[in-house]
Amino acid sequence: MNTLIVACPSCKTKNKMPASKQYRGPRCGKCQTPLPMAGYATPVELTDQEAAQVIREADLPLMLDFYSPNCGPCRTLAPVIDRLARQFFGRAIIAKIDTSINHFSAGHYGIRGVPTLIFFKNGQVVDQVVGGLPEDALVAKLNSFIRI
Ligand SMILES: [Zn+2]
Repeated sequence: MNTLIVACPSCKTKNKMPASKQYRGPRCGKCQTPLPMAGYATPVELTDQEAAQVIREADLPLMLDFYSPNCGPCRTLAPVIDRLARQFFGRAIIAKIDTSINHFSAGHYGIRGVPTLIFFKNGQVVDQVVGGLPEDALVAKLNSFIRI
């Protein structure tokens, strides 16, 4: 999983945390000040080993982007996914998984082409989108997904 480095607004300590912890109200390791995560929010990069647990334990709706680093549409979608992570911080978890190295998850969820976006709620698949969508369409989809 990718790691975030977040400077404490109070004591300036640089706190390191796994990306999934950004959603759990992290506090500074030194002075316990709550860390302002929204500006740092980033997609949670998962591996096969991490995916099942993060999906199961997610206490927010979760959108998982199955991508491959050498797929053109995936590269086009990547900055959109980054922006969605900031825009929906605190309302949805935005995650991604590289299918070129995480074959188990891709097989488990029947991924036939990338990018594929799968939406999970309470650990269950509720929707999926194959191929890229324009950013405003994804925003609308996430908003309706969160309201379900
Ligand atoms: Zn601090």
